[in-house]
Amino acid sequence: MRIFTAGISTESNTFAPWPTGQRGFDEGGYWRGTASLSGQCEQNLVARLFRRMANEGGHVLVEGLFAVAQPSGPTIQSVYEGMRNEILTDLREKGPFDVVLLYLHGAMVATGYDDCEADLAAHIRAIVGPQAAIGVELDPHCHLSQVLLDVSDIVILQKEYPHVDFEARASELFRLCVRKAAGEIVPVSCLFDCRMIGFYPTTDEPMSGFLRRLRRAEQQPRVLSLSFAHGFPWGDTFDTGSKMLAITDGDAMLASDMAETLGRDIYALRNEMVPRYPGIEEALDLAQGSPGRVVMADTADNAGGGAPSDNVTLLAAMLRRGVKNAALASIWDPISVSTCREAGVGTKLGLRLGGKCGLASGNPIDVEVVVRSIKDGHDQAALGDSRVSLGASVWLEIGGVDVVVTSIRDQTFAPDALTGLGIDLSEKRLIAVKSSYHFRQHFSAIADRIIQVATPGAIHMNFADIRYKKIRSQNYFPRVADPLGLDSAHS
Ligand SMILES: [Zn+2]
Repeated sequence: MRIFTAGISTESNTFAPWPTGQRGFDEGGYWRGTASLSGQCEQNLVARLFRRMANEGGHVLVEGLFAVAQPSGPTIQSVYEGMRNEILTDLREKGPFDVVLLYLHGAMVATGYDDCEADLAAHIRAIVGPQAAIGVELDPHCHLSQVLLDVSDIVILQKEYPHVDFEARASELFRLCVRKAAGEIVPVSCLFDCRMIGFYPTTDEPMSGFLRRLRRAEQQPRVLSLSFAHGFPWGDTFDTGSKMLAITDGDAMLASDMAETLGRDIYALRNEMVPRYPGIEEALDLAQGSPGRVVMADTADNAGGGAPSDNVTLLAAMLRRGVKNAALASIWDPISVSTCREAGVGTKLGLRLGGKCGLASGNPIDVEVVVRSIKDGHDQAALGDSRVSLGASVWLEIGGVDVVVTSIRDQTFAPDALTGLGIDLSEKRLIAVKSSYHFRQHFSAIADRIIQVATPGAIHMNFADIRYKKIRSQNYFPRVADPLGLDSAHS
């Protein structure tokens, strides 16, 4: 078979004050037909996997554009259309194709396009025709739309949060799409709207148990794939929200039953899953009263959800308390990085740190810092076996806290974001990271206790208070206690 693959990935925080432009994709990763050749980003690993599977199956794989940008505001229209049209041109010029595999994020908004994934897939369908199999892999933090399901054949979401299973899901997508193109299966999709906005880490109960049920249900005859779309709360679109997707082999009734049954299972857990995190002062009390090493997460200033990652409210509170043997990563402040590189290692200087991007950044702090190390091309381990760049970065000593400041904006995934600059974590009692949950994959091993903190910032978890204008309906949990009206039916 002839197989084409491409991908455009970003998660648009429609409340963020700055847009995603070409520089955002250049910085995140941009490969024109070369994603499988080198690199350790998710896109490289997935493209390499597709190439290996194509070779093993005796298929021809053609790689198109793969691009990824750190979440920010909506993508500039011409930038999105340029990337889309590049993919479409490749399909026209290098086709025909039996299978198209798209590695997307699933919450990409561009000026004029609230559902970029459906727009891209619809344009692809118009070129490849009704017989070709179009498969899409998405991050669970997507706005899963009926339009996307209508124009593609198989949509598979990562099940885990942290999303360590992106390659496992890509492998399923490849196999199912080849079977569809061979006429061995007839995928039928059904979507159930859970009418919820929420946050669903899968390493703990109740979501870990739910995933076990999902995997068991996937073993049933005629069930091809089951996915739970967590939704991306900080993107205001018609399709924002949590949904259950079932895909069966030619059985629409079974798909509908599975989506609704599993969707209601999640719905029944909704009150249990509301994030209840301590505020900063309470969290610091808990940390200082805990034996061993505490890893504390600044959940609301997570670049991975489109936050600026330069809010220093938590750092200011740590400094006020005079905490010792502490570290914090990573503040995005290219101006401070540039100043410290100029000053050089060992220099002591006054610095205005953080608080630069907008209201969600909060106020900066004016501090005396010592530049302990400087590294160009700093990076860190990320999801699965992937790695991501942090750009030119510095280690600053501020009171009793070793602070990492970067020039590329990303959440803190792994300890090497700190140790890579020379910070010794062995004696640290408190490590603060900017991340909502992905940090757990690599930090759990070195934490005696993890505390997620309700910090101020762009992606706070008061889901009832997010000012949606485009969402299908304001009748969603937690704004409404029982939007599906199922509680009274039970009592
Ligand atoms: Zn995600």
